[in-house]
This record gives sequence, C-alpha cells and structure tokens, in this order.
Amino acid sequence: MLTHLFRMHGLLVASHQWEVIVGTVTLTICMMSMNMFTGNDQICGWNFDCPKTEEQILSSDIIILTITRCIAIVYIYFQFQNLRQLGSKYILGIAGLFTIFSSFVFSTVVIHFLDKELTGLNEALPFFLLLIDLSKACALAKFALSSNSQDEVRDNIARGMAVLGPTFTLDALVECLVIGVGTMSGVRQLEIMCCFGCMSVLANYFVFMTFFPACVSLVLELSRESQEGHPIWQLSHFSRVMEEEEDNKPNPVTQRVKMIMSLGLVMVHAHSRWIAEPLSINTPVGMPQVKFLYIFLSLVPHRMISMDIEQVICLALALLLAIKYIFFEQVEMESTLSLKNPMTMSAPALTPRRPIETCCRMEPYTPQGMSVLSYDVVAGGLKLHCGIQLCLVSLDEVIRPLSAPATDPQPKSIFVVGGGEEEFKSKIEKSTLLQKPRSLDECVAILNNPELGPRLLSDAEVMLLVNSKHIPAYKLEAMMERPERGVAIRRQMISAKLPSPSALSSLPYTNYDYSKVMGACCENVIGYMPVPVGVAGPLHLDGKQFQVPMATTEGCLVASTNRGCRAIALGGGASSRILADSMTRGPVVRLPSACQASEVKAWLESTDGFQAIKDAFDNTSRFARLQKLLVALAGRNLYIRFHSKTGDAMGMNMISKGTEQALSRLQQNFPELQVVAISGNYCTDKKPAAINWIEGRGKSAVCEATIPAKVVREVLKTSTEALVEVNISKNLVGSAMAGSIGGCNAHAANLVAAIYIACGQDPAQSVGSSNCITLMEASGPTGEDLYISCTMPSIELGTVGGGTNLPPQQACLQMLGVQGASQDCPGENARQLARVVCATVLAGELSLMAALAAGHLVKSHMTHNSNHGSNKGNTASGRRCSFL
Ligand code: NAP
Repeated sequence: MLTHLFRMHGLLVASHQWEVIVGTVTLTICMMSMNMFTGNDQICGWNFDCPKTEEQILSSDIIILTITRCIAIVYIYFQFQNLRQLGSKYILGIAGLFTIFSSFVFSTVVIHFLDKELTGLNEALPFFLLLIDLSKACALAKFALSSNSQDEVRDNIARGMAVLGPTFTLDALVECLVIGVGTMSGVRQLEIMCCFGCMSVLANYFVFMTFFPACVSLVLELSRESQEGHPIWQLSHFSRVMEEEEDNKPNPVTQRVKMIMSLGLVMVHAHSRWIAEPLSINTPVGMPQVKFLYIFLSLVPHRMISMDIEQVICLALALLLAIKYIFFEQVEMESTLSLKNPMTMSAPALTPRRPIETCCRMEPYTPQGMSVLSYDVVAGGLKLHCGIQLCLVSLDEVIRPLSAPATDPQPKSIFVVGGGEEEFKSKIEKSTLLQKPRSLDECVAILNNPELGPRLLSDAEVMLLVNSKHIPAYKLEAMMERPERGVAIRRQMISAKLPSPSALSSLPYTNYDYSKVMGACCENVIGYMPVPVGVAGPLHLDGKQFQVPMATTEGCLVASTNRGCRAIALGGGASSRILADSMTRGPVVRLPSACQASEVKAWLESTDGFQAIKDAFDNTSRFARLQKLLVALAGRNLYIRFHSKTGDAMGMNMISKGTEQALSRLQQNFPELQVVAISGNYCTDKKPAAINWIEGRGKSAVCEATIPAKVVREVLKTSTEALVEVNISKNLVGSAMAGSIGGCNAHAANLVAAIYIACGQDPAQSVGSSNCITLMEASGPTGEDLYISCTMPSIELGTVGGGTNLPPQQACLQMLGVQGASQDCPGENARQLARVVCATVLAGELSLMAALAAGHLVKSHMTHNSNHGSNKGNTASGRRCSFL
C-alpha cells in the first residue's frame, strides 16, 4: 500500500517535471521574499552589520571550526563527484545544490516565523552540511538512468520512489526525532540549532521527494532530445540496479528498529512538551534577523576585507575544488586512462563521453595496467555496491561492471551474461568497430601479455590478428576471454563474406554454454539452431509411461505419433526386449598375401587369439568389453568387425580406442600386418549396410502390441484387415521390390531422427538406427484385433558422451528418465532409451499405416461407390501429411 503510494507519487512528479520544478522554485522564492521583506528586512553584510563571530568564539575553537568547514567542503565536493559519475557534470549537481539551498531557506524562514535567535548558526553550518546526503539523489538517479526511453524514465523513477521513498521517509522522521531531542535541552543555542537541523532535514526531504525527481526526469528528457533519439545517459549496465531492486529494499530489521526508535522518541517528545513543564524553546527571543544568505555564504565570505585566516583557508579550498571539478576532472580521467597503458599512446583521440564514467572513482595506476575501482553509496539503509575492473587500453575497451557482493573485495573478471550486460557489451563492441585498430605489433604484444590478453583488444583488432594468422580462426572461442565473444567475432568475419551480410542475423548465438561444445561437439561455431521440440505420449511401455520428446520441423509427425501412443495405451500398452547390445568397429588390414591373411583370420578365431585381442581391447575403457570378432577376407585384405558392449555410451569413440590397441597387439603377432584404415566400412557406421541389418549394431530391440478391433476402428479409423493388407503390400512386398535393406517399415527414420535430435544423439546414425521391419497380423478370438511388432536390429545410441552432454539435450533425456550413466547397471539407461525409440517407432508406424489404410479404403470405396452410382464412402480421418 505504502509502496504503491510512493510509486504513484514518483510517477506524478516525473510526469509533471515543469510544474513541480516551477512550483518548488516559486515556493522557495516566496519564502526568501518573506524572509527578506517581512520583519526586519536587513541582510547581513548588505544593509546590516552582523555580529562579529570572533567575539563569540574562543580562539581554540577556530581551529576545530576551520577543520570542520574544510571537511564539509571536501564532503560536498565528493557528493558532487558522485553525481557527476552518474553522467551529469552540472545539472544533477545544481539539483543537489538547490536541495541544500532550499533546506536552509525553508529552515530559516520557519525559525524566523517562530521568532527564534539565529546568532551563531553560521558556526554550525558545516555540521549541517555534513547532514546532507546526496547519495539519496544518486540512488534515485540510478533508477532513472537505467531507462531506455522517457516512458521508462518515469516508470523507473516511480519504481525508485517506491523502493527508496519509504526508507527516506522513515530516515527523515528518525533524524528529526533524534535531532529534536536537542530542542528540549534547555540550552538556548543548542535548541535553536537542533530546531534548524530538524527543519533542514524536513526541507531536504521535501525537495528530494519533489524537485529532485522532476529535475532528473527533465534532464533526461532534454538530453534524449539532444541526441537525436539516442539518449546520452543510456547506460545499460545500470539496468542491474533494477535487477538488484530486491537488494535495494531496506533491511526489514533495520526498519523495525527505526520504527521502534521513532515511537520511543515520539513518546519522549510528547512527555516533554505536553506533560512536563514547557521548555524554554517557547520563550520568545529577540533578534529575528534573516541570515540565511550569510549562513549559506559563510564559507565564501562576502566581505573580503574583513576576512580572517580560517575564512581564507575555507575559501581557498572551496575555490580549488570548484576549479578542479569544473576544469580538470574530465581531463584528468582521460589522461589517467591514456597513461595507464603504454599501448594507448598511439590510440585515436578520446571521445568526451564514455560509459567508463558511469560508475566509479579512479584509483592510482597499478603495475598490471589495471585499476580496481570500488564505490559504495550508503543511503538510508540502501547500499549500492559497484566495482569495476577497468581495462585501461582505450576508451572503448572492454569494461567489466561487477556485481560483487559487499563483502567481496575481489572484483570478478568476467562479464555477467544477462540481458543488460550483453546489450551494454554489444554497444561497446559496436563502438570498438568504429575505432581505428592499433598497429599489429601492439595487438600482438597485448595478446601475448598474460596480464593483458585478448580481452583488452577490440573486435577489429582481434580480426586483424586472425587475418594475420596470429590467432587461428578455429581457436577464436578458446582464445577469447569468453567463448561467446569468439563466436560473435567469427560471425562478423563470416558475414562479410556472405552474399547477404545480414544473413546470420536470425541465427541465434547468445546465451549458450559454448564451453560444453568446444572440443567435443562442434567447431567453427557461429551459433546454434533452435528446432521445435514436441512431445508425444504417454507412451505405455513395459508397465511404465513415457513422454517422448521429438525435435522436428515436420508438421503432423508428433500429432500422428501421439495418436499411435493413444491406440497402444488403449490396447493395454506395448512390450519390448533388448536382443543384443554391442557396438561395432570394422577396420581393414592388409597382409602380404591372401594366405597370410587367412592365417591371421584363423588366429583371431582361436580362443588364445581372441583372448589376447580382448585383453588389449578391454584395457582401454571401464565399459568397453569385447564380445566377439567377425572376420571376413577379400583377397589379402582382412576386415575385422569388433563387437563390444559400451555401457551407456553410444560408443564409437570408445570402441575406436579399443580397436587401435587391439590392432597394435595383432601387429605384435603379425609384424607384416598393415593397418589400412581404422574403419574399413565393415562396421558399418552411418551408411546403409546389410551387415547391420543382419548382424545387428548397437542395441537390437523388438517391441510389440495388440490393438483391440474397437480401438483400431475408433482411434485409428480403419480395420485390422486393411492394416494387414497395406503392411504386406507396402512394407514387405514393396520394400522387397525396391531392394531395400532394413527398410521394411513405413517411416521409422522419422521417429528415430526426431528423438535423436531432441536427445543429443548423432543424427547421422539415424541411417542405421532406422533399420526396422514392421509386421502386422490379425489376432484375437475374432481375428479382428491387430498384432503389430517392430524389430530394429541396429539402434545406435547412448545416454553419455557426445551431444548428450549438452544441457537442452540432457533435459529431453531427463524427460525419459535416462540421462547420464545408469547408477545401478552400466548400459541400462541406453538400453531403456533404445526400447523407447523402438516403441515410439511402433506408435508412428501404427498411426501412419492406419492413415494409409483409411485412405486406401476411401479410394476403394469411392471406386466401389462410383461403380454403384453413389458417393457415400468413408472419409480419411488422418490429416494428410507429407510423410504419407
Ligand atoms: P565418449 O564421450 O567418447 O566416451 C564415453 C565416455 O564416458 C568414456 O570416457 C567413458 O569412460 C565415460 N563413461 C562414464 N560412464 C559411462 C557409462 N556408464 N557407460 C559408458 N561410458 C561411460 O562417447 P562415445 O559414445 O564413445 O562417442 C560418442 C561420440 O562419438 C559422439 O560425439 C559421436 O558423434 C562420435 N562419433 C565418433 C565416431 C568415430 O568414428 N570415432 C563415429 C560416430 C560418432 P571410459 O573412458 O572408461 O570409457
């Protein structure tokens, strides 16, 4: 409720900037006028001689007062510096100054109306200045600066107000109550000072809640317009402020303590003022002279002639800092940046506005060429932390805003990958492209310096290094500070060579964990291909239910499979078995003669020979276990098919390692043996081959189901008779006519490929894995039920290794409960996946065959009906799909 109120207030103020600003200024001027021209219209040093302060102050106090004034000046200077770091050198500062000014005007006017004595307040001024906390302004401004449009500015100011408003209100209340205790002290001067302090806090609060947000909103609107639609303040890394909104929320414990404290103080005040004897605060005092100008300007005495030493010190300090702020701050920062890295000496001229200015102060140069910066703002319970590790090469270098926690003194040296950071980073990258790259020698020096490295090179410079072969193009991901940057640079380089330079714009590449891809799944990466993933199920198999993920772009495929799953479920589910589990690798070796080759064959087929080879083979893995060798001869060429269990891995890499060792062992016995190729196509991997169909490869599985006649009619919209007829004509005779090997099915490859892509399998292995014979028979007491089976002898898959290591693919494996290595029995997860594949193929076969059968019937019925002069035949219920 309270938050909502503050949000509404913030929105109102930010939307009506002019009204609020003019209103506040008018109010201030009115109060000034009243102060000046009501009562005694005399102003110190103007038409009235102020009492000489030195008369009232002990000489020993002068030193303390001077020091306090100096501290106050330096404090104000730093407050201004903080505001400047938000992107505005003057305007936010002026807003801050106005806040202070209004506080004094307001306080003085109120005290004037109360007829209180103001003498001596000028001595207390430094203490009041120390009360002013512009970090509140910083905090609110940061909310506004995180916006990309004026509408967002208003919304963000409203959000900032909602988050910060209650805290500031409570802080103002507590401050007033605490300072207010002094008004009951009985010491007149202290009472007046405390009263003044309370008024200052209230005025400060009022201005902060009205004038300041309106000013910020206006400044941002004006600066936006001045940049042709590109807001100069658009510092996207401030969007983290929004993300950290939760963190910005005040600590509830502190809030509660403050509230309890306030309650106690209210009681103290009530007791003192209404129950106990009224204190001397009500006693009218003389001298109701307005002195706010004198007070405010006491740091810059207007009567130079009568200036004493402490005033000279204060004035000098104030002037020094003002000159430094106005004239040297920017130059200093730029020159520091240039000097910190000798490589930048020949860099192009520095641009005046940079994101680098946005957050943190500079610290002295460190020998590593970097400066670790940190800056804390504490504002009424709000603590913003910002650490930046600046890479000091040039203006548009990579900047690393950090989100280090308060207790973490070590800034992290990587980008936080997220929307805001990415956007910010890409902007910097774009700007680096516009810069002239440094010389090749400089770039090489930076690249080879372990303390600098590629992160300090612009994209253009990295491209220069790639083109000059100092960075191998294929190593871009590995050599950049983040793989994603390498991918981005490769995209830029490739885009330039494409017929359409924007060709890659629709191929995503961000927010992907390339570390899992590098050296394992893909090279020369330029992005990733999103493929829609559908789900078919529940698939009732062996008493369990599975939701099957299918990645495909083929319409109807998932829907059709889903229908098959439903028919299976209504029929009581499918059953499956694994018939064999062995991956194969078939190298080709050559011997001097066919006779020698036959001797090698005989040795391999002997018990001793096989055991020697098996020992060598099994040594290479915890899971690879040689099961058998199938040896074939072609002249003096020998083809040896190694059959091995591979646990939960698909196993091609694993078995290749084992085969290499086994062949080395074979060469020990037959030194004249020459290995022609580790794969002699006798495996056979990723090519149609009868050997896989006959001998099996990977997992050999069979799955069966009986579909009641009613389900065939009502779900599949056909009849068992029609299905059996189509199956014989198409899947058996048709495939025989085509000379197909392993293709006695309707579309097994459709299901295999879709599951393989979803589950991180090698899609090319859908060639052999789709080997399948689909059989259908009429069964049951009436012969109208349908018995269907799918036999798949060569399902090549795994649940560890290869693409199964990628998180999205793992998610799909998790859907099936088979991700990773089986804890109970190595290989069980992969076998379960093979069963699911086989059963899903069965579902797909059932549905497609039913659609075909229904279509067949439609045709025959239409023929029949036309023969009989009518057209009342069945209609095909299945949707017409491309795979029909
Ligand atoms: P792999 O990732 O190369 O090997 C599997 C790894 O997982 C092995 O290191 C194995 O340990 C370990 N592992 C842990 N738990 C396991 C378990 N329960 N069962 C089995 N292994 C387990 O995977 P791969 O299947 O052999 O090879 C797959 C990759 O090969 C895919 O990327 C595929 O595209 C590619 N491929 C290669 C060829 C080729 O000719 N080389 C052909 C086709 C495809 P150990 O070290 O103890 O064995």
